[in-house]
Amino acid sequence: MNSFVSHNNADVSRETSPGYGDLLDVSRETPAGAPESPLARAAMAARRHDETWPRPASCRVIGVANQKGGVGKTTTTVNIAAALAMHGQRVLVVDLDPQGNASTALGMERDNQTRSIYHCLVEDEEIRKLAQPVPDIPNLWCAPATIDLAGAEIELVSLVAREARLKRAFAAYDTSDLDYILIDCPPSLGLLTVNAMVACDEVMIPIQCEYYALEGLGQLLRNVELVQSHLNPGLAISTILLTMYDGRTRLSQQVADEVRSHFGDTVLETLIPRSVRVSEAPSYGQSVMTYDPASTGAVAYLRAAREIAHRAQRDGHSETARRA
Ligand code: ATP
Ligand code: MG
Repeated sequence: MNSFVSHNNADVSRETSPGYGDLLDVSRETPAGAPESPLARAAMAARRHDETWPRPASCRVIGVANQKGGVGKTTTTVNIAAALAMHGQRVLVVDLDPQGNASTALGMERDNQTRSIYHCLVEDEEIRKLAQPVPDIPNLWCAPATIDLAGAEIELVSLVAREARLKRAFAAYDTSDLDYILIDCPPSLGLLTVNAMVACDEVMIPIQCEYYALEGLGQLLRNVELVQSHLNPGLAISTILLTMYDGRTRLSQQVADEVRSHFGDTVLETLIPRSVRVSEAPSYGQSVMTYDPASTGAVAYLRAAREIAHRAQRDGHSETARRA
């Protein structure tokens, strides 16, 4: 039986990874974007303690989507995935964006020979064969994207069940060893994003706390409804995450208030602040969770991931001792 666990020798016991539980109160953090002193980081890191996060009863497949560009889809996918994996969850990131930013941020080796999610969608390659373990983060794998994916939107058009290629790939694969699959979508509502929506149970929408943030959101919501009614009745928008929040501006606060008034408790309580460390991390092939775990951005992503893990319980996907 196929298993991601065979991809590395990581200790995949259900014991917790080193946690950052005491770092969870971002109200004590330095303001978003402000430089954090090494001393402050060291002090915060010293307050780490182990923490158990509930595991979902079955693998949660979450598509991270927003056709608006640059709102934090990739940053959110990579850092939520890393935070979950660091707390003992087994996580696969599927990079469904031809830009391949999630693959870069997770340190994936790619060359002309690399088999990628393109081969899975167009040539029926098994995901297990192309997923690579993420360096330095046990329990985390990535199915990388290569530039071939740029042509997939067109190539998919002539294929049978073109909207369900990814779903088919997941179905052919035993995901019982995984707790989460996070799919990083491209900034469009084309066939790649539709494939993600057909293959997933939940959509997570990152919304940047900037002017025009809500523009185009109606179109995204209509697309989700279309997929729900024709292709994937079980699909739900489970999570909205406010990103690049700058507490010094009234605009950020206004956008956050407006999003909360529209979407209620679908919006995570945690806000992701604008943080230099978050934007630096990908150039080192890392998530901010490993690049600077005590930075405001890493702490916020940790809190957000923790909320997501606990929402599984709220929504009835209670933790089980599946493999205990
Ligand atoms: P695309 O639509 O092109 O795929 P995206 O929605 O995936 O973009 P990202 O690539 O995650 O967005 O982020 C866009 C830019 O903003 C990147 O340069 C990223 O490093 C930066 N960024 C994301 N989140 C933050 C943050 N919290 N603080 C500072 N910079 C951030
Ligand atoms: Mg992206």
